[in-house]
Formats: sequence, C-alpha cells, structure tokens
Amino acid sequence: MKIALQGILFDEKSSHLRGPALAPPLIRKAYHNDSANYFAENGLEILPAVWDDKGDFEIHDYFEIEKITSKNLGSNNRMITLGGDHSITYPLLKAHNEKYGAIDILHIDAHADLYDNFEGDPYSHACPFARIMENKLANRLVQIGIRTLSTHQKEQADKYGVEIIQMKDFNLNQLPVFENPLYISLDIDGLDPAFAPGVSHHEPGGLSTREVLRIIQNINVPIIGADIVEYNPTRDINEMTAMVSAKLLKEIAAKMLSDN
Ligand code: MN
Ligand code: MN
Repeated sequence: MKIALQGILFDEKSSHLRGPALAPPLIRKAYHNDSANYFAENGLEILPAVWDDKGDFEIHDYFEIEKITSKNLGSNNRMITLGGDHSITYPLLKAHNEKYGAIDILHIDAHADLYDNFEGDPYSHACPFARIMENKLANRLVQIGIRTLSTHQKEQADKYGVEIIQMKDFNLNQLPVFENPLYISLDIDGLDPAFAPGVSHHEPGGLSTREVLRIIQNINVPIIGADIVEYNPTRDINEMTAMVSAKLLKEIAAKMLSDN
C-alpha cells in the first residue's frame, strides 16, 4: 500500500501571523535529512517509495482545496496532508467524506478551533471544527492538548458533543479508545513551544514530542488520513520544528502501514 502525500501552500485564513504556507517543502526536506534514517520506532522503514507524492499546491482560492484533495486522493486509500494553516482541515474532511462518509477524528491542538466565526470569517483557522461538526463530517471528535478554551468554544463543544481532553487533565494512562477508522488532525502548536517553537501561536504548557508519539503509537484502530498543520518556518529555530513535524509524519505513516 502507498500513502498519498500532498502539501497545501495556504495560510490566508491565519488570524495572527502568516508563514504556514511555507511549511510543506521544509517538512519534506527535514524528512530526507541525512542526519536521520527512515526507520520509524515500530521498526518499519518509511522509504520514499512508500509515498504516492502528489507534490505541493499553491492555493489561490480556499474552495479549491477540496477539489485538489479529492483528485489527489484518487484511488489511494490513505492520505497525509502537510499544511498550511488549520483552515484547510474543513475542505480536507469534505474530500475524505466523499470517500469514507462520516469518520472519527482525533484533533491535537492548543486550541479547540470551534469558533462559529473569527473576526467575521467562518472559514478562519479558528473555525474548522465548527464547520466539520455542523456539516456532520465526523461521527466523533476527540480533542487533546486544549489549553485556551473560551466560554464560546465551550458552548460550541457542548452543542456539537465534542469530547475535549484539556491539557490540564491530560493523562497518558487514560488515552481515548476508538472504535472506528480514524482521521488525525495535528496542529503543531498542540506541542509545547519548548519542543516546537516554529508556530504562530506560542501557547505554553503543552504536550511533549514524546507524549504526541505515545498518543499516535497507542491508537487502536486503522488511520485513514491525517494532516500536519500550522508549522510556521518564519518562527523556527535551526529547523527544529521542521524535524519534529517530519518525525511525526514518519510515525503517523508507520502506524497507518502497520494496520494496512
Ligand atoms: Mn488549530
Ligand atoms: Mn492551534
């Protein structure tokens, strides 16, 4: 089995800083960095031949993302997308919905991204999971790492039945158990800025790289798709966040391939 890989060069829906549109080629470069090898921690070697690499796409219209993703998904059963800001996850899920119907989502982030609109824009990177839930693209949405829950977003979570494991309550020994194939949406700012400084929103008190790896490695159902979003190279130090993103890409792929 091959895994489709696409990069979405888009950050126009960012509320604070631009930069994530620059991320995909830098994550690819880190993935192939000579300082590391292609072995994931489960022993699988995620060589370049694993990927059905569709390349990186410059996006001029937000609504093109769904069409490009549907085309790139094609006959592949699995896909990983490199973002881009988090607004892309709504069109990504629309494209996956055509193939899989409603799916379960694991969302790792400092932020719940459940705003009905943000500064008047319903498609802001602060809103994708409100759009996903109101359009019934997910059976179940579990969020981990949240540490900025506003009153409005708490109300939105209650309205849509979102299961939020706030960072203050996070316990590696009580990870969620899934029953259906899963989509992972990984916002790099879910990690603590000490581990991943290359993000637009530095929100202290987050997940360690090892905790995110444990979450991925403990998933008990097949992973059908994933995105890695919000890496902002303009804020990075020595490309260390590119390396973290590349490691998480490798580990998600290894988990995907271990279930087939
Ligand atoms: Mn986000
Ligand atoms: Mn975030």
